[in-house]
Amino acid sequence: MDIIQNTVLVLIETTTQGTIQRTSCEMLGAASLVGTPVAVVVGMPGAGQALSRELGALGAAHVVGVESDNATAELGTLQVAALAQMVGESMPVAVIVANTTESCSVAGRLAVRVGGGVCTNAVGLRFQDDEVIVQHSIFGGEFTTESTVEGGPCIISVRPGSIDHRAVAIENPQVSIRDADTLGCGAPGAAIRAASMRPPASNRPELRTAKTIVSGGRGLGSTEGFGLAEELADALGAAVGASRAAVDAGYAAPELQVGQTGVTVAPDLYIALGISGAIQHKAGMQTSKTIVAIDKDEEAPIFEIADFGVVGSAFDVVPALVAELRARRG
Ligand code: FAD
Repeated sequence: MDIIQNTVLVLIETTTQGTIQRTSCEMLGAASLVGTPVAVVVGMPGAGQALSRELGALGAAHVVGVESDNATAELGTLQVAALAQMVGESMPVAVIVANTTESCSVAGRLAVRVGGGVCTNAVGLRFQDDEVIVQHSIFGGEFTTESTVEGGPCIISVRPGSIDHRAVAIENPQVSIRDADTLGCGAPGAAIRAASMRPPASNRPELRTAKTIVSGGRGLGSTEGFGLAEELADALGAAVGASRAAVDAGYAAPELQVGQTGVTVAPDLYIALGISGAIQHKAGMQTSKTIVAIDKDEEAPIFEIADFGVVGSAFDVVPALVAELRARRG
């Protein structure tokens, strides 16, 4: 790989169809805040080349395609090996991944491999005195803290939806292709002989990266009542989330839980239905750009962080809202 000043390696997440995930645009944008984005695509033969124009348009100065037709890639082993090799070669100022389950797993293993440190769930980045300074939103968004890594590579997982900055498009990014077989992915015991992907549970957008989320809480009262959140989500083309109380009560699947012990999200629009706004819930959604709360208790803490609030029963407000949305669409 040619020497690039202030290289920031960006792990590109791809779908099983070989397209890039929505997180890529933001991760490349985040990288451009502190250096020159170099996109690393691990995938099937031809994937890096095929995606290079698109990644250039999102700001990648260089696209490194690591090719394999081995299912090992599904569990991150190749991503770790590829990034570890590139860290050794390019001495990047940082490695950036999306703060998703898959990429966080890569970040942790990479840190062990290269003797670095991980700054997780970043919501901002800046470069100061030759160091990348990473910002985190903590205690339900009440405080912003900063961290950095000393004495080893700085690996950062960035919260999807939290950084608006976009990189300048590069018309013809450099492209280099590597054969995964040359990377030395680990001990033979780590080999994976077969893997299959679980089909998505619904056609709705993925919760972590959705631009709009409708979340339901205990206030919806039952699994049938939770259907209100789903109905509004479908009217808006949104993802569905839930509070822990709604999950514990069996109204919603555990993977929909938003909050401290669930998923952290930062969509453009977050609509909370019958969610009181406990600090553990706010921890997972407080950095949403616009928050709308519908709750029948005007004292509910969710109203303290809501941009728009409706005091009323979700069972009255939501059907009227859905009817209005449908009427406007004709
Ligand atoms: P409630 O607090 O019971 O609120 C229900 C709301 O619905 C009330 O405000 C009520 O006024 C309103 N309501 C009732 N009927 C209606 C109606 N008809 N229309 C409109 N509004 C109505 N919670 C999370 O969400 N995510 C987490 O990740 C999480 N992690 C946790 C980790 C720990 C260690 C602990 C201790 C707790 C955690 N919790 C988490 C739980 C959290 O403390 C709250 O208990 C939970 O968020 C409450 O969920 P809720 O708002 O749906 O329910």
